[in-house]
Amino acid sequence: MDNVDPRRLIPRTNDLLALPAVLEARTRMGGHVIRGLVRDLQDQARRGDLHPAQIEPALLAAVADHRATSLRPVLNATGVIVHTNLGRAPLSADAVDAVVGASGYVDVEIDLASGGRSRRGAGARAALLHACPAAEDALVVNNGAAALVLATTALASGREVVVSRGEFVEIGAGFRLSDLIESTGSRLREVGTTNRTHLLDYQKALGPDTGCVLKVHPSNFRVEGFTLSVALEELSPVTKASGVPLVADLGSGLLAPDPYLPDEPDVSSALAGGADVVIASGDKLLGGPQAGLLLGRKEIIERLARHPLARAVRADKLALAALEATLAGGPPPVVQALHADVGQLRRRTDELAEALGLPVVAHDGRVGGGGAPGVPLPGWALQLPEDLAVLLRTGDPAVLPRVHDGSCLIDLRCVPAADDHRILAVVQHALALRAGRFAAGAG
Ligand SMILES: *Cc1c(COP(=O)(O)O)cnc(C)c1O
Repeated sequence: MDNVDPRRLIPRTNDLLALPAVLEARTRMGGHVIRGLVRDLQDQARRGDLHPAQIEPALLAAVADHRATSLRPVLNATGVIVHTNLGRAPLSADAVDAVVGASGYVDVEIDLASGGRSRRGAGARAALLHACPAAEDALVVNNGAAALVLATTALASGREVVVSRGEFVEIGAGFRLSDLIESTGSRLREVGTTNRTHLLDYQKALGPDTGCVLKVHPSNFRVEGFTLSVALEELSPVTKASGVPLVADLGSGLLAPDPYLPDEPDVSSALAGGADVVIASGDKLLGGPQAGLLLGRKEIIERLARHPLARAVRADKLALAALEATLAGGPPPVVQALHADVGQLRRRTDELAEALGLPVVAHDGRVGGGGAPGVPLPGWALQLPEDLAVLLRTGDPAVLPRVHDGSCLIDLRCVPAADDHRILAVVQHALALRAGRFAAGAG
């Protein structure tokens, strides 16, 4: 018996696939996924990493645990509201309902009364124009970068895009707006210097080769000291006189001024300042789905909508549904987190601290996503030992804390109050695991 090669005990594929629990799983798992699991387990046994007798229980556990997506929900305890690595903006309950509703067949491009074709995303467009009365027209594309590519391609391909040297932004993961613009076949015409650009710099650059003038909000950095930039209000009479479109890329997605963020530009003010087209992002400060928003003068928006590239960067129905519901429904989580009541944050943090016997420290949240750099959002955090962070991240649910200055900090700003008890449970579990480890280490 002892001499039998264990590899000969590996169950056959067909026998494993015929197990009742595996047959049942075929209604909620792709056949290739199940066969892949079987093959993996058999390979592990062939290598000697798994005893053949463990294949069947391992397979049953794997099909029972199977989820169709590998994306895991995370409780964001960092205090960073628009967290790029966590998918930026969580959707509002209304937007989630809208996405579910739009997941089947929907009238995204048909007028049900006449049976004729309708303008795609008319509802999202109407909601944008309602929120931003200064805009004559609006177009929604896949994301902010796509909006910028569409605008510069349609307005300036083969010609010049005039931009200040102080506004050459790298938006993250090595993406530079200047590279993006040059990829459209436009030529960058840089004006001014890193710290100072004058109106005269723009005036000297304008000419027959100018496709458009672009103002980029340097969203993720600040230049301080001896600086000068030209406001839209100053620039727009000059571009208008030359008949050149003035495009403003705001980066974020405020549609109107927010008293909490006095230095953050917004679409309504940019249009009032004379921009012909304003580019904003759906999943930064607007708190909606990933989307690029183009708002402005009717003839220019129509020109962009008719450009062949518009088809390549069009927004999908789920994003259009979520965007409309973000605008028309209740305040999205991003707005709630930004305007969170500090006293309430303190009470919630104190309650957890008391239940856990841990200290509370003052902690500043951040807007994140390249918005309002350096603007602190005063609040509180639960202070834990740094080595707890990994146990929280791998907890159930996963909790992402902030690791800072040798501490693991839990800031409740971006955690819905209804999830406080889940944070408590995950922290308790992590503390128990850690205590167990120390006991084992000492023993
Ligand atoms: C974020 C950002 C973009 C790109 O927007 P995405 O929605 O990420 O594609 C463009 N311009 C500026 C100034 C930005 O901050």
